[in-house]
Amino acid sequence: MSYQFQVVCPHCGVTNQLPEERLEENPSCGKCKQELLPLAPIDVDGPLLQKHIQQSGLPLMVDFWAPWCGPCLAFAPTYANFAQTVGAQLRCLKLDTQAHQQAAGAFNIRSIPTLMLFRDGQEIDRVSGAMQPWQLSKWVIDHLAN
Ligand SMILES: [Zn+2]
Repeated sequence: MSYQFQVVCPHCGVTNQLPEERLEENPSCGKCKQELLPLAPIDVDGPLLQKHIQQSGLPLMVDFWAPWCGPCLAFAPTYANFAQTVGAQLRCLKLDTQAHQQAAGAFNIRSIPTLMLFRDGQEIDRVSGAMQPWQLSKWVIDHLAN
């Protein structure tokens, strides 16, 4: 028996059940047939972020950013690169705090960029300010490797 993961589709928001060994096989969504685990940050709004937090069997990282924020834009390539290297083990999401101000308020975001880590529906940690690639990797490993 392999462990079943719940994976929320970044395109249609439907929760898929996936056996662990399929995570690395570029699975597609059972409903919309699109890529379930794209190796790039996924744009979410407030309701979709809540759904990911509540239902995702995989840990999540969320970048709260805004288009007018210089450090956010400077950090974006680092984040995209990280999403590509980390693969299916961690889902990388991003939320535009200008377009979704209510969501930013709900998560008590006071400065941007703010990165948050979630696992099993709980916030594990958050960091404000852009990180260097090595800092980002270390932060994730420190909190998720066990
Ligand atoms: Zn889908």
